Amino acid sequence: MHEWALAEAVIAAVIEESRKEGLKEVTKVKLKIGELQQIETEIFEFALNELGKVQGSVAKMEVEMAVERAVFRCRVCGNEWDLRETPGMSEEETEAIHLAPEVAHAYIRCPSCKSPDFEVLHGRGILIEYIKGR
Ligand SMILES: [Zn+2]
Repeated sequence: MHEWALAEAVIAAVIEESRKEGLKEVTKVKLKIGELQQIETEIFEFALNELGKVQGSVAKMEVEMAVERAVFRCRVCGNEWDLRETPGMSEEETEAIHLAPEVAHAYIRCPSCKSPDFEVLHGRGILIEYIKGR
């Protein structure tokens, strides 16, 4: 059920942002969903609509979602790479990482120096790219 908790947090953030921008009504929100974020997008969208309905200012907003690609950075050599550029990754392993981001360190090595010591730069969590309204 964490889609509902995430949707609630997103709605709250959208409402706060719309207040800052002085909008009475939000017509559109564009979200970026990290590819390492475990989420059922259909449930998430449904939750956004259901929770948004009872909030006057976002009741009619259109939701657009895009996937944010995962990017890693090596702590040893500073190399940055994409999940798909990781050498020796089978489809099964890529799938395992999508299902459980915390296992990424067990599978992924820096393509340049082979170190397992890296950080996730992008591809985690949910970002509000922009909101539109009047
Ligand atoms: Zn490295």
